[in-house]
Amino acid sequence: MNILEAYKFCPICGSKHFVQKGSNKLCCEACGYELYLNPKIGAVAMIEDENGRLLAVRRSKDPAKGTWHLPGGFAEVEETIEDAVKREVKEELNIDVEITSYLFSIPNHYQYKGIEGYPLDFFMLCKIKDMSNILVDTSENSEYSFMPLSEINVEEFGLPSIRAGIRRYIELKKKA
Ligand SMILES: [Zn+2]
Repeated sequence: MNILEAYKFCPICGSKHFVQKGSNKLCCEACGYELYLNPKIGAVAMIEDENGRLLAVRRSKDPAKGTWHLPGGFAEVEETIEDAVKREVKEELNIDVEITSYLFSIPNHYQYKGIEGYPLDFFMLCKIKDMSNILVDTSENSEYSFMPLSEINVEEFGLPSIRAGIRRYIELKKKA
């Protein structure tokens, strides 16, 4: 179920008459409060080195524990996607990146405590400014690897939107 189906009461006035209108909105019949179902913004780093290899990390926790992944995470309140990418890469790998360009966005799904979540992943192309102190935060990832695009096995990436993003990036590079 999605979060709208989980709400039992209006979070503003406590009324039980908090009812779904259409597919993406709850309305309170007592106080008029409306709650919309919106995506969470995911910031994904597509980091290329000077040889065109892509920096991947191996997940050390679920979902998709043990599979390859790209650095990134959810944007925080009042943060830009650019800053979210830089912060997440710094947290996960202790390296500084520069955003080269916005690539594309891909909607994603995941379940947390039985509730369906709807991230919208923004893929940002990055280059490395400084990786002299690269250090993997093992609470998130167990290792990293620079992968030549021609040798990437997309099926080894565990999350569907990341697989789709890498496929799309490889297509873009072929056309370039
Ligand atoms: Zn209300």
